[in-house]
Amino acid sequence: MTLRELLRDTVKKLFPVSGESAPIEARELVSFVLGRRIGFSDGETGLSEEQTEALDALVERRLAHEPLQYIIGEWDLMGLTFCVTPDVLIPRQDTEKLCEEAEALIRERACRSLLDLCTGSGCIGIALAKRTGIETVLADISEAALAVAAENAKQHGVTARIVQSDLFSAFGGEKFDIITVNPPYIPSEAVDALDEEVRREPRLALDGGKDGLDIYRCLAVEYAAHLNENGVLLTEIGFDQGESVPELFAGNADVKVMNDDCGKPRVVIIEPRSKRAEADGESGC
Ligand code: GLN
Repeated sequence: MTLRELLRDTVKKLFPVSGESAPIEARELVSFVLGRRIGFSDGETGLSEEQTEALDALVERRLAHEPLQYIIGEWDLMGLTFCVTPDVLIPRQDTEKLCEEAEALIRERACRSLLDLCTGSGCIGIALAKRTGIETVLADISEAALAVAAENAKQHGVTARIVQSDLFSAFGGEKFDIITVNPPYIPSEAVDALDEEVRREPRLALDGGKDGLDIYRCLAVEYAAHLNENGVLLTEIGFDQGESVPELFAGNADVKVMNDDCGKPRVVIIEPRSKRAEADGESGC
């Protein structure tokens, strides 16, 4: 079979599960089997029997609803390729909004220290470290996720401190110029109703408790104590949390909501107004 025929055949097989993404997914899987990106001029290349069999096995996994990104073991964010395993959330393009806003603030304010909480694969913190050179800490409650983050930091030549922490629990009185977080924010019941592919991702990275706001409530209590003067917290939110999340912080902070490219609220930028918030932080969460 030529590559062209194989691609066409693969798209057809993937269609029942992948739908309109079938052509992109077929190309990803064939590229993975060949060990190189394929181009249009490759159409007449022949494939070995071994390669065809390897591809069949991958297609079977995809037809059993395993996410494409876990099959090929990597995905891109901010133009960088990150290693992903079922221990971490797959990077979403939506999250580039958080990275772009954070990068702009890091440059504008000459921030020198970044804490990326709920780091998962490390994609946000590593992308920011790589693009700005900021001193970076990657933290997560999941040790398995941190192993993936460590691998990604190494791959990208980023020297980051990697800390296992339940939100701020491991950080004592430590402060940062900027904190980023893409927490789990989907209401528990909604997680159960998600596509089978998304439910293959770690529940820990998706489930934000009954109303999806559990982690934001904890952040609101503690974050100000971990920010330096003029420090800022950026968090991703769900499309319908553009009012509920800001409300949790608005009492003693300036809060701005930024929309993503689809015009949906996606990022909240929070700047504490007074040092009073720091004292409140002592109560823990
Ligand atoms: N954006 C992810 C989704 O739509 C959720 C990620 C998260 O909970 N942080 O599935």
